[in-house]
Amino acid sequence: MLRVVTTLHDPLVEVLGATMGRKLERAFGMETVQDLLRHYPRRYYTRGEVTNLSELREKDHVTALAIVKDVNRKPLAPHRNAKGGKPQTREMLEVTVTDGTGQLKLAFFGRVGYLMRDLKPGASGMFAGTVSTFRGTRQLVHPEFEMLPAHASQGEDAAADFAGQMVPVSPASSKVSTWVISRCVRTALQELQITDDPVPDELRRKYDLLPLEATLRGIHRPHEPSDVAAAQKRLRWEEALVMQTALVRRRKAAAAMPAVPRPPEDGGVAAEFDASLPFELTDGQRDVGKTISRDLSCASPMNRLLLGEVGSGKTVVAVRAMLQVVDSGGQAVLLAPTEVLAQQHYRSITAMLGPLAEAGTIHAPERATRVALLTGSTGVKKRRGVLTDALTGDAGILIGTHALLEDQVQFADLGLVVIDEQHRFGVEQRDALREKAKGSRPHVLVMTATPIPRTVAMTVFGDLEISTLSQMPAGRSPISTHVVPAVEKPRYLARAWQRVREEVEAGRQAYVVCPRIGGDEPDEDPETDPDASPSDEAGDPAPPPGEEERRPPLAVLDVAPALAEGPLSGLRTSILHGKLHPDEKDRVMSAFKNGDTDVLISTTVIEVGVDVPNSTVMVIMDADRFGVSQLHQLRGRIGRGQHAGLCLLVTESGPGSPARTRLEAVAETSDGFALSRIDLAQRREGDVLGDAQSGSRQSLKMLRLLRDEELIATAREEAMALVDADPRLARYRGLHRAINTMLGPERAEYLDKS
Ligand code: ADP
Ligand code: MG
Repeated sequence: MLRVVTTLHDPLVEVLGATMGRKLERAFGMETVQDLLRHYPRRYYTRGEVTNLSELREKDHVTALAIVKDVNRKPLAPHRNAKGGKPQTREMLEVTVTDGTGQLKLAFFGRVGYLMRDLKPGASGMFAGTVSTFRGTRQLVHPEFEMLPAHASQGEDAAADFAGQMVPVSPASSKVSTWVISRCVRTALQELQITDDPVPDELRRKYDLLPLEATLRGIHRPHEPSDVAAAQKRLRWEEALVMQTALVRRRKAAAAMPAVPRPPEDGGVAAEFDASLPFELTDGQRDVGKTISRDLSCASPMNRLLLGEVGSGKTVVAVRAMLQVVDSGGQAVLLAPTEVLAQQHYRSITAMLGPLAEAGTIHAPERATRVALLTGSTGVKKRRGVLTDALTGDAGILIGTHALLEDQVQFADLGLVVIDEQHRFGVEQRDALREKAKGSRPHVLVMTATPIPRTVAMTVFGDLEISTLSQMPAGRSPISTHVVPAVEKPRYLARAWQRVREEVEAGRQAYVVCPRIGGDEPDEDPETDPDASPSDEAGDPAPPPGEEERRPPLAVLDVAPALAEGPLSGLRTSILHGKLHPDEKDRVMSAFKNGDTDVLISTTVIEVGVDVPNSTVMVIMDADRFGVSQLHQLRGRIGRGQHAGLCLLVTESGPGSPARTRLEAVAETSDGFALSRIDLAQRREGDVLGDAQSGSRQSLKMLRLLRDEELIATAREEAMALVDADPRLARYRGLHRAINTMLGPERAEYLDKS
């Protein structure tokens, strides 16, 4: 079949034939020409460049570019096991290839004559295989190979393949080598015609970007490095634009939904609450409060992200918003990532509200409401009561964990959803809660103290308006952080425990944090708070590459008795971790909050939200096992009162090691946003984006959230302009199509409905 033109959407089986098409589908899941052409080369060899053979390591799967130095034909011992017949003489071919300094052996068994036609001394080629060692020499056994023609005139196909100065190396699989991909790409590019470029002409002109067709040719068959650079620039732009346009459309679609306005009311519970606050609101709290109050009064749903440093006082902001909704006859939900935090919110919010939360009792003033708690471990009877109160509207405020998302939870009139400390709480989960407001959409406030770089905010929360709470309430004390090198300076560690004792003697409290629970399971411990999503749980932080073979991280159940019998003997200690029964967690936290415990030895269940102002010291054991942002969150538990906080990062990592450097950065800066950049620089972006952007994780191939911050911001502006001018993207078919491909049909349809 002769194809006149190839489009991006043609099936590969038609363009490349059924066998090759199916092969690519099996190996990479590729179905269309687009899938193949979006499989970008990982690197490029320049002609004349050779692989540094001395860097090869055993078990590496390599594609090496090298020159044949020596070809040695050797007989093998006759096959002794051959039954009957004459013994067969077998041969092997031993080829030595070189990069000029190091060398590598290639071993082929059989087909020697045939192989020798290609493998001639002086010829260069690409060799792919897995590095093994034979008698102390590194070798590839039966590598796949492709020789580079000595002159471009040798054979037209090969000439086309290597006409450029640069040889692309695409991510290969064990079944499909990089040059097979290369050949398929060449076929696909031959008659390629693209009519619906995702990046509109006007933007291409404005930002000097290649059209898609030239881009794909440039990335796959570059002649010089500047071809690759131009193609990459355009591809980054495209990724940023497609992602941001999807988010902008999503935000518009959400805003176009009807919502019940919940305007503030004079003389309501909210006003009473404000009057009863034991402190002055900060200017920031007041400003954000005004913005939120205005949002809540609108007939379109609020979708706002409140970014605030640890301890900046977000809870009060949330409570004031919830009470405004309650005053206007609606209900509000406060969703927390862990059981411990949900319980704490319940305790502190009921305490703050006092009689205002006791509607139906004789203590309650005329205007009052009720607060209910629902988590995965709420008992059957209690749960039934909570469900009834939610359904009848008797409970104005519901606090809980993921359990609140379940189908059985129905509301009389859900007006506001507050999601606390859950920056990984994805779009889908937000949708699940939204569905619970019948007929209209609830207002949504997402709060996070996990500082996230601006572009991550734009990406993960690109469909939300962003407010920032930067000011700390007055009377906050500084926290000083120090690294305690347990190996080099054992005396520092002794001094750390002494500091804990001193603080306790002065009437204050302390935390000791360990990376692991311990107990039965020898070395692995995902915290198993039934309510927490896995990504938010303590568990073992994954060790950085190359550091896998260390001792298991310290565990609460080992450290606690050692401390109680040793350096902290005589102090009142208790333990807290995700595997405790919820009632027990509640009891432990209450005791600590009431000052009945001096030292709480815990896992990262206390990472977010926990608020005990009297605690002033935190000792983090094996601190190098935690991420930078996580350490910042943890230390946010101290320095919440009038006394200065001290955070000690205990580590066995040596001076100058990456782990140590990371800890020193945490010790040196108290700016969560600066730390979040360090964190992002060290983690894979998929981890950061989490499930929130399950679709786009795959589609971010060229874009890097940190490096391309400015580009993303610009793309966002342009996306807003495009969507304002043409909300349905009728004039931007290519862009529309790219968004559909990224989101998948279901989520894309949602955008088109609005
Ligand atoms: P976060 O923003 O980390 O969630 P919280 O809401 O837990 O912080 O607030 C931390 C502490 O600060 C709480 O004990 C809270 O009562 C207190 N707080 C909040 N706002 C103020 C304020 N304006 N003045 C003094 N203390 C405040
Ligand atoms: Mg909080």
